[in-house]
Amino acid sequence: MDGIRMHELISDLFPICRSITGDGVRESLAIIGSEIPLKITEIPSGTNVLDWEVPDEWNISEAYIKDSNGRKIIDFQDCNLHVVNYSVPVRAKMPLSQLKKHIFTLPDQPDVIPYRTTYYDRTWGFCMRHADLLNMNDDEYEVVIESSLENGSMTIAECIKIGTTDKEIVISSHICHPSMANDNLSGIAVAVELAKAVLKRKTNYTYRFLFMPGTIGSIAWLSLNEKKTEKIKGGFILSGVGDGGNVHYKKSRKGDSLIDNAFLQVLSKKENARILDFSPYGYDERQFCSPGFNLPVGCFTRSVFSTYPEYHTSADNTSFVTPDSLEDSFKICLAVIDHLEKAPTYINLNPKGEPQLGKRGLYKAMNDQSLDNKQMQLALLWILNLSDGNNSLFTISEKSKLEYRLLVKAADLLEQHNLLKLA
Ligand code: ZN
Repeated sequence: MDGIRMHELISDLFPICRSITGDGVRESLAIIGSEIPLKITEIPSGTNVLDWEVPDEWNISEAYIKDSNGRKIIDFQDCNLHVVNYSVPVRAKMPLSQLKKHIFTLPDQPDVIPYRTTYYDRTWGFCMRHADLLNMNDDEYEVVIESSLENGSMTIAECIKIGTTDKEIVISSHICHPSMANDNLSGIAVAVELAKAVLKRKTNYTYRFLFMPGTIGSIAWLSLNEKKTEKIKGGFILSGVGDGGNVHYKKSRKGDSLIDNAFLQVLSKKENARILDFSPYGYDERQFCSPGFNLPVGCFTRSVFSTYPEYHTSADNTSFVTPDSLEDSFKICLAVIDHLEKAPTYINLNPKGEPQLGKRGLYKAMNDQSLDNKQMQLALLWILNLSDGNNSLFTISEKSKLEYRLLVKAADLLEQHNLLKLA
């Protein structure tokens, strides 16, 4: 089953300490690159990308807190979430009262380690189980973080499947989280499996799978590829697709684009699936849907981020994600791709006012009130109205409640009369 293979990939990637830059990302991409062909781009630190700047590269080899007896209280080797991601190096001795200012716990969930980052604020910190913090005495502690923040680069990767057209579908997953399985390894695993599936097929669309650090990665890609964005006809962010929750699709900012309609239709057959309106909070759809780009890119997820207790903690581990959920998410995304590939999408060539159908012989004798004739007239009107490049014939069938076969016939007629062309 594909779900088991995806779960294995998650388990292989899980131990690696990733961040928005650094060797953990490269090591992860090397594993992904052994599954699908990847084009890797290194963007130097200091590169200006839109309103942002690629930060110094962060790497870490070890980190721990030791008590005065030399006993390690926490160790980065046990769990990389113990260190606040992007911590500056530190080697010091200090009393508990001072150390506490650099310790983060979740008092409400005393047995899990939280995930914290400090990308743009040069400081350091540790994350630990609240229960372990309560056991720390008023001792003098040795604190070590062996990290480096140096001029280097940020790594992003793409897997491209060329279609018969250069119209593009973009599928993007972030790769910047350390050891957490649902956020973000599940998105990577499903994206890899989808890439494998489309690489095997002949497709109309060109597919671009992006593996990039959250926020800064997509900002950098958009900045470096602004021209290419004109080709993007649809896309979605994949994240948090391995947990046991119900599926959610968050619409693009456009709200009624080809991809939104494709997800709406595929999920209409799925029990408990939820459709969410766009909001400027979430994953990288925020960047793709920023007003200057306003690309038709939504977000597919299971449990919505930040709504489940395992989110951004050590409890988001490999047993929190299941092969069944991964498989289900994969199948939904593949059905969306099938929808995009199989259903033709047209453009009305006479979109201002209804074209006069009568003079073209398309309104058969108006007094012919046979059911077939009426249905055909409705089909012509629905297709003309919705063919703006955002609605496939599948979607028009769904919205009009007219039979797909009838719509195909009507579209043929309109094409013959130069009123319609393929989008
Ligand atoms: Zn996250």
